[in-house]
Amino acid sequence: MKLNIKNTFTTELPADKNTENTRRQVKNAVFSYVQPKKTSKPTLLHVSDEMANSLGISREDTKTDFFKNIVTGNLIYPKTTPYAMCYAGHQFGNWAGQLGDGRAINLFEVEHKKSLWKVQLKGAGETPYSRNADGLAVLRSSIREYLCSEAMHYLGIPTTRALSLSLTGDKVLRDVLYNGNPAYEKGAIVARVSPSFLRFGNFEIFAARNDIKNLKILTDYTIKHHFSYLGKPSKETYIKFFKEVTNKTLSMIVNWQRVGFVHGVMNTDNMSVLGYTIDYGPYGWLEGFDFGWTPNTTDRQNKRYRFGNQPNIGLWNLYQLANALYPLVEDAKPFEEILAHYRIDFEQQSFKMMKAKIGLFTEGINDIQLIRELEDCLQLIETDMTIFFRNLSDFEEVFTAIELLEEAIYFPNELKKEYREKWQSWFELYAKRLLKEKASDKERKEKMDSVNPKYVLRNYMAQLAIEAANKEDYSLIDTLFELLKKPYENQPENEKWFAKRPEWARNKIGCSMLSCSS
Ligand code: AMP
Ligand code: MG
Repeated sequence: MKLNIKNTFTTELPADKNTENTRRQVKNAVFSYVQPKKTSKPTLLHVSDEMANSLGISREDTKTDFFKNIVTGNLIYPKTTPYAMCYAGHQFGNWAGQLGDGRAINLFEVEHKKSLWKVQLKGAGETPYSRNADGLAVLRSSIREYLCSEAMHYLGIPTTRALSLSLTGDKVLRDVLYNGNPAYEKGAIVARVSPSFLRFGNFEIFAARNDIKNLKILTDYTIKHHFSYLGKPSKETYIKFFKEVTNKTLSMIVNWQRVGFVHGVMNTDNMSVLGYTIDYGPYGWLEGFDFGWTPNTTDRQNKRYRFGNQPNIGLWNLYQLANALYPLVEDAKPFEEILAHYRIDFEQQSFKMMKAKIGLFTEGINDIQLIRELEDCLQLIETDMTIFFRNLSDFEEVFTAIELLEEAIYFPNELKKEYREKWQSWFELYAKRLLKEKASDKERKEKMDSVNPKYVLRNYMAQLAIEAANKEDYSLIDTLFELLKKPYENQPENEKWFAKRPEWARNKIGCSMLSCSS
């Protein structure tokens, strides 16, 4: 395995002078050098061949002990210097101070086919940023991150990627429900990949410490390597940079809304400056369409990160980033204008996205109303989002539409007369509106099916893979991995995954209720 190694991050940015792996506040540095922990019995469970290929790693390479040892932290690739990043963040709306890569260790940068990637291990041991935790990760959360990040990529949504999933052979103690019942679980490591793992919090930490020198160094580095098309760093470029991050963040969130993905912990330390979905923790996929739903049990009271609030939180987080970048520009107005525009842009993009989901591509004066009414109908009784929108592309006439709807409804008995009538009148409006579209039924179906996925990583599906893996059966990981590579295609052999959540999974831990414990 021969990689084209680059070291832009460690050579162009200030390193922590202290090289001891002790937990501490790290000042005047973007990162600290740290070595991954050796594991007792590393076993490779799965590799994303496509991701490996993008890094210039062949399928044969991935079968070697060398590869296994690299992606489990047991061996350091020659001439590379692993490191953990220093960042801060706002967690659940409150300033949390220094956080940092507490259990992520960046291995190296690889350039392949003109793309520069950073490879990072999650769960490879403690770092100066581990605070009071162990720097490790368990199998269940690692399976969830591994499967979901690749699934997201194939849905066409910007995301960090996954290269491999491994067991460490070590046991990790976790109190899943935070109720004083800790138990040992299997330790695991995901090797993740992204052009950059920089978060809003990387910028916030320097602003909070009034370290403008390093704030500028980091921002200039980010622009040079990830936004070079904006021009050389200057006050104008910093503003353009903020505008780009805003646009990318917004577009990512509109995509989340399109497929029903709820991140669960949109803290500013979990917001990528590239507008990538990052840090798959207690995320969840909407089953019943519900703006108020959150998968994260830690957030059950306030529901800050509920489905319908993700766009607002994106904006809230961008305010924090604007505050962090402000010292480089010293003029609040341009930031305020960009932030004010977010709301307008969100309304427009969200409207366009919802129109595409229901197959409307021309302008209609009552379209906003039509979509609002649809969202109301969808929330009358528990109605599966994925199935509803996917079925809608088969819409022909009002009478048969009710059948398409019934397939998406969890308890069809609850569809009482009053609700049925509401749906009926919505379908009537929809049928009338479709007459104004130019596309044929076939064309409309094709377009709708390209934005309404048929297969998503339903919460219970990941849980089934986890339960099997706990019994040493890893086959479902591969089945789901392959299924989710083609989320928009009909896969007749996989029809069983295009189904409502089974009732056993309704209130099961790991299926609809996720804790941050990982
Ligand atoms: P999260 O909410 O999972 O994104 O984590 C917030 C912060 O806690 C980040 O700085 C993580 O690196 C850190 N963290 C989470 N879990 C662990 C762990 N097991 N060991 C050390 N640090 C952790
Ligand atoms: Mg995080």
